[in-house]
Amino acid sequence: MVCGFRATTKNKYRELQDHLVRQHFQDRIKSALPTRRPFMCPDDGCKVEGKDWQALMRHYTGKHGILEGYLKEVIASGQVARGMLRNGNGEKMRTYMFDFSCLI
Ligand SMILES: [Zn+2]
Ligand SMILES: [Zn+2]
Repeated sequence: MVCGFRATTKNKYRELQDHLVRQHFQDRIKSALPTRRPFMCPDDGCKVEGKDWQALMRHYTGKHGILEGYLKEVIASGQVARGMLRNGNGEKMRTYMFDFSCLI
């Protein structure tokens, strides 16, 4: 299942991050994050406050590996063809997502 997204700017991780949040995980991210000030990170022990929702979203999904976790769930649930994926950690998955199109 390839959605067709492909990063086109230099900051590919940020582009993919925004794409995944907007197109695939919007409801989950929205329910995980505060919808109004203060935009405090919901992670236990993390004291980061975002200047706005988007800043917090980028911090939370990037720093805490949230998107990689969601992606792993999608992969585990079989919604993505197994043969197309490598085993591995978040870094490898990031590389993979850049090299090809967004797979979910
Ligand atoms: Zn945090
Ligand atoms: Zn996608």
